[in-house]
Amino acid sequence: MPADKAKPGLVVHTAGWPLNDDAFGGGFLYHLEGNKVTLGYVIGLDYQNPWMSPFEEMQRWKTHPSIKAHIEGGKRLGYGARALNNGTPQALPKLVFPGGAMVGCNAGFLNAARIKGSHAAIKSGMLCAEAAFEAVSAGRQSDELTAFETGFKQSWLFEELWTYRNFKNWFKKSPLMGKLMTGVEHWFLPKVGISNPPWTLHNSTKDHTKLKQAAEMPQITYPKLDGVITFDRLSSVFISNTNHEEQQPAHLTLKDPSVPVQINLGKYAGPESRYCPAGVYEFVNKDGADQLVINAQNCVHCKTCDIKDPTQNIVWVTPDGGGGPNYAGM
Ligand code: SF4
Repeated sequence: MPADKAKPGLVVHTAGWPLNDDAFGGGFLYHLEGNKVTLGYVIGLDYQNPWMSPFEEMQRWKTHPSIKAHIEGGKRLGYGARALNNGTPQALPKLVFPGGAMVGCNAGFLNAARIKGSHAAIKSGMLCAEAAFEAVSAGRQSDELTAFETGFKQSWLFEELWTYRNFKNWFKKSPLMGKLMTGVEHWFLPKVGISNPPWTLHNSTKDHTKLKQAAEMPQITYPKLDGVITFDRLSSVFISNTNHEEQQPAHLTLKDPSVPVQINLGKYAGPESRYCPAGVYEFVNKDGADQLVINAQNCVHCKTCDIKDPTQNIVWVTPDGGGGPNYAGM
């Protein structure tokens, strides 16, 4: 950023716009040291409209005067994308397995209601380290660190996450319900002496089942990208520092190669060409026949396709080598 615009420490959070009411999301923007700004937009993958492109929604978000003012005159340095698993404590998986454990955002410790997770990642790492130290000191190895799970349930981190356990599920009902009930649970109830809501919401609906067919939803036309505030996907991927070897084994495969054209394109207008933030999936017409091209070398490993593919036909596996993305400075 130009030095006169830098305000290190400034935090901006937004909710909603430019999303419609059938999708959940919001943005963040942080002024860092060294005249840098980092910003991002989060969209719930339970959105319904297959015409929606999360990448283009973020480009549109940057054009809002309140966001644009922070980035105008700057230079784009990096790009990345990832799926956030933040289903609150009800959605946490079993944290331990023989010889290993899941900590931080890997497990889903992010506190979505407070839009923060670093403290939770650090605390879960500390709890795991304490359990590992105890096990190693007792001469144990390759078993399950059950003390980590017990320690978590007795920690302030569990208490904090449990307080916000309904946040996502209220918003899943509707943005209006989300705003109203977040106010009730975290403003009204504490005022009358109830620090923890007496109810717990559960959700077992998978995000990919929420996608409606293209004919049922309005098409979305996104504004032209200007190359100054708003950018295209491929030039963004270029600065994500992703370098896959051309001949490496395929890490994105299809269970049934006929499904993308017959079902995904036929019924859902090819949503993978829009929800992938790296332009990996492209429908092309060759000799009069539609076909799906997978540009796997562009993949930034956000795992959105694994979650959102309506037919669950895409198989993502860990790629060969450490080809990035490499988020320098994050
Ligand atoms: S191919 Fe899948 S995992 Fe890779 S960037 Fe696209 S949506 Fe993300």
